Order: sequence, then structure tokens, then C-alpha cells
Amino acid sequence: MQIDNIPETKGQWIFRCGRKGLCPQCGQASMFRAWLKLQTHCPHCGLNYNFAAPDDGPAFFSLCIVAFPLSFFVVWLQVVFDPPYWVHLVTSFPLVTLGCIAPLPYIKGWLVASQYVNQAQEAGTEKLWAQLHARAEASQADGGDD
Ligand SMILES: [Zn+2]
Repeated sequence: MQIDNIPETKGQWIFRCGRKGLCPQCGQASMFRAWLKLQTHCPHCGLNYNFAAPDDGPAFFSLCIVAFPLSFFVVWLQVVFDPPYWVHLVTSFPLVTLGCIAPLPYIKGWLVASQYVNQAQEAGTEKLWAQLHARAEASQADGGDD
């Protein structure tokens, strides 16, 4: 895995792809077609994004990394200054909302790149995974869309 002839470790590659939202195979095209919507295939190298299933991982990490520390700030603000409610409306509410939403694409990109590089899947589901993908690919080859 390298871009611009600079060799990278797995972790650096995953971090770079996640931060920039790039395809974890070629590192050239975006993995997103909309804000949090993944492409079906990479437009540059053709990587099929069927493997990508970050599910609610981005929301979970966003809550752990951003919401919990910000909650402590909000409680501290309330306990120390005992401000009127509108202070929370103009500080706490926008901070927590934007703080949780803004990192979602980066975290999702990081999780998808990590899944691809580490070939991660749920333990014990390799056979089922292969069957489902063989069925989906056969269906696409027949022109069906189920
Ligand atoms: Zn690609």
C-alpha cells in the first residue's frame, strides 16, 4: 500500500484513507457518494464495497470520543456557574450536536478502511458471507436486482 511512492504501514494507510475518505484499495477515489453514503464500487479501481458494514460503529465512537467528554463540560458549566437555561441552548446544545455529527465521515472512513485492510468480518460467518455474496453476484449477472 503506497501513494506517491511513500510506503506506509497498515495503520498509516487506514488513518489516511479514513481521514480523506479514500478507497482503501487504491487510495485514489472517494469511498463516499454522499455525506455518509458509500459508493457501491470504487470508480477508480472497481473495489466492491459489499464488505463494508460499519453499522452503528461511527455513532458509537463519536459518542465515546466526543459526547462523553462534552457531557462532563456541560455538567461542570452547570455546577460551577449555575447559568440560565439559554446559556446551554447557545453553548452546550450546539457543541454536543456538532461535536457528535462532524467526525462521523472520518470515523466511518476509518472503520471501512480498517475492515478492508484487516479483512474483518464477524467471527464464524465466513461460509454464510461467501454464500450471500455468491448469490448476490449471480443475481447481478442475471440482471436481477433482488
Ligand atoms: Zn479504489
